[in-house]
Formats: sequence, structure tokens, C-alpha cells
Amino acid sequence: MREFHPPRRILLGPGPSDADPRVLAAMAGSLIGHLDPEFLRVMDDIQSSLRLLFQTQNRLTIPISATGSAGMEAAFVNLVEPGDTVAVCINGVFGERMADIVTRCGGVLLRIEADWGHSFDPDAIRSALKVLKTVPAKILAVVHAETSTGVLTPLDAIREVLDDFPETLLLVDCVTSLGGHPVEIDKHRVDFAYSGTQKCLSCPPGLSPITASIKAIDVLRGRKNKVQSWYLDLTMVEKYWGAERTYHHTAPISMNYALREALRLIEEEGLENRWGRHRQNHQALVAGIEALGLQMLVRPENRLWSLNTVRIPDGVNDAKVRSSLLQEFGIEIGGGLGPLKGKIWRVGLMGYSSNRNNVLLFLNALETILSQDGFRAQRGAAIDAAEKAYAAKA
Ligand SMILES: *Cc1c(COP(=O)(O)O)cnc(C)c1O
Repeated sequence: MREFHPPRRILLGPGPSDADPRVLAAMAGSLIGHLDPEFLRVMDDIQSSLRLLFQTQNRLTIPISATGSAGMEAAFVNLVEPGDTVAVCINGVFGERMADIVTRCGGVLLRIEADWGHSFDPDAIRSALKVLKTVPAKILAVVHAETSTGVLTPLDAIREVLDDFPETLLLVDCVTSLGGHPVEIDKHRVDFAYSGTQKCLSCPPGLSPITASIKAIDVLRGRKNKVQSWYLDLTMVEKYWGAERTYHHTAPISMNYALREALRLIEEEGLENRWGRHRQNHQALVAGIEALGLQMLVRPENRLWSLNTVRIPDGVNDAKVRSSLLQEFGIEIGGGLGPLKGKIWRVGLMGYSSNRNNVLLFLNALETILSQDGFRAQRGAAIDAAEKAYAAKA
């Protein structure tokens, strides 16, 4: 084999996003043992910084050693036992995946659905949960940031619904929101949340930060059966991350260096500033997209800042546009999934990728490619509109 030199890309898809160069540099550090006192300090730093990021006091706040999907799997395998009723809010691919995992765990699934591209009506969730008369749902699971559609599910509204169902645990997927949108675990009394390193944290894929409330830990301790997954069994994993430091599996050392540096970058920037940056770049992008004569899929109040979904205009070739973006400009964006395949583009502005240069470059590239394809757009209008949006905020 010859050497592999990855091409330079600008990653504006649904993930991975561009890793911060400081994160990549941190990964190149020498390996040390997973029980080396210096590594134990790295683990402590990560746990306390993750608590700040998740806005929680939860003791059990750790990275699972695998991508975001493992965080999702860990959530359900640890909390669900056969026969438990689990309500899942489904309005896209990731809600659908949660539902799949629930049934694999032997859970009894209660589907609460909304159309793809739309948010949930809290009253519809309340009525669905009320149907369970004798035993309330053990868990209500929601995707905070649905990456397949660009829809945000506001956690305050969900919390309000669950105040009527005090026994039900709140489980949240915040893979595409953590580090880009406010994720306030304690304020919204979220019982279990998981995320991933490769979206708004701007690390490579490879770790999945999770956090569990005392209520969730009580459920875990009170299980009738052992957790069916050995690798993801938090009763064992927590002993390695906690005071006991018992060997369970070898932590991915370099990925933990990466996450520590990513968290350090977030502390330096400040959470509020970081959310503000994601919001501002999103708003500038939307201004540019609309000036081009294109439309967003999602209503303004439900839009994610980290993942923007743009309707593909009639007569425009989806695959050709995405391939030109990649080949001519080095920009990766995502296509639609499921019912939205061929109908939308997914433009991620996550973490390190969420910056003004990328917004302006992408808008110019899209305008150029669409014009070559005969789509009539006023040249320069998108950049002008985006610049106006930035100026209005400055
Ligand atoms: C990306 C993503 C996942 C899965 O994360 P991986 O790192 O791809 O395993 C889960 N949920 C949501 C909402 C995501 O966007």
C-alpha cells in the first residue's frame, strides 16, 4: 500500500464536522496506560468538564468508548428490561432507531409520531402517555436535535408534559445539540442523555458522552436482570470511571486526549458564546439561502442551528450538486434520508465548522453551481444577505 493522504475537506454535512486542529494535535501525544496516574487525571478532567457542558451535577457523567450510537444503545440496554413500556417520540431517523433498540431490549414500544420536518405538539405527547392507565411509561425518549430533518424539540415543553407523569424517566438524544445549543440537564431534569464527539464538539467520531441522574441510577441498581450488553453495562463501566478504577476495557487513550482538548476549547470560548456563534452562523446561512430563492424545510421556531435543511428546488439534480460541491470546492454536505431523500440538503454548521468563512464559501459555491445548472439566482445576493445578517448582529 502507498501512504494515504486524506484530501482537505470542509465538512458541512450531518457529521463528522471538522475537528479543531488543536484536538488533532492532542491525539498525537504518546500513549500512556489506561491506569497510569496521569491518565486517571485526564479522566477526572473530562468528567468535570462534561458536567459543565451538560449543565449538571450528575456524578455519573462519562464518555462511553464508542460513537454516539453506542450512547443511544447504552441508554436503553441499561434502563429497559423486558416488558417495560417505553414511549419514543419519532419524527426522523434517530427517533426510529431508538424505537428499534427498545424492541431489541424486549421493551413494549409506544410510538408517538410527528411528521418528518415538524416538531411535536406537547398535548399530543401528553394524550399518548395518558393512554397507559395502570402502569405509566417507564421512559419517554426524545431526540433533542433530529439530524435527519433539522428539527429541534424544545426540552422545556417536554419537561412540562412529564411533570404530569412523575414516575416516567426523561431520556434525551443530544448528539447534534451538545456544544451547539443549550443542553440543560439539571434544569430540565433529564434522567439520561447521550451525545457524540463528532458533531458540535469537533472531535473525531469515537466517544459518546453520557450523563445519568440519581433516578436513572436507582433504576439501574434495581434491575431484576443483568444488563444484557457486557460492554455497555454501566454498573461495570462506572467502576472504572469512579473511585474504584477497576479495569473493564482499555479506554481509547488518544480519543480521550482529543475529548479533553475539545472540552478545554469549549471552556475557553464559553458556553454562551459558543451557542451564540452557532445561532449567528445559522441565521446568516438562512438569510443567504432565502436570498438565493431557496426555502428551508423547517419552520423558523423549530430550526436547529447546527443542522440546516434546505429544500432542493424543482429541476435541480441533488447528486450532481453535492458532487460538484465536493469535487470543485472541497465541501461536504449531506443529502436527505428516508421520505426526504432527494428533497433536501443537510448543511451542518457544527463546532469548529460553524464559522463565517464556511458560510460565505458555501453560499458562493452553491450559487455558482446552481447558476451553471441554469437555476436563476441573482449573483451575489446570497453573500450580501449573509453579510447583512452578520452586520446586524455585530
Ligand atoms: C449522529 C447521530 C447519532 C449517532 O452517532 P454516531 O456517532 O454516528 O454513532 C445519534 N443520534 C443523532 C441525533 C445523531 O445525529
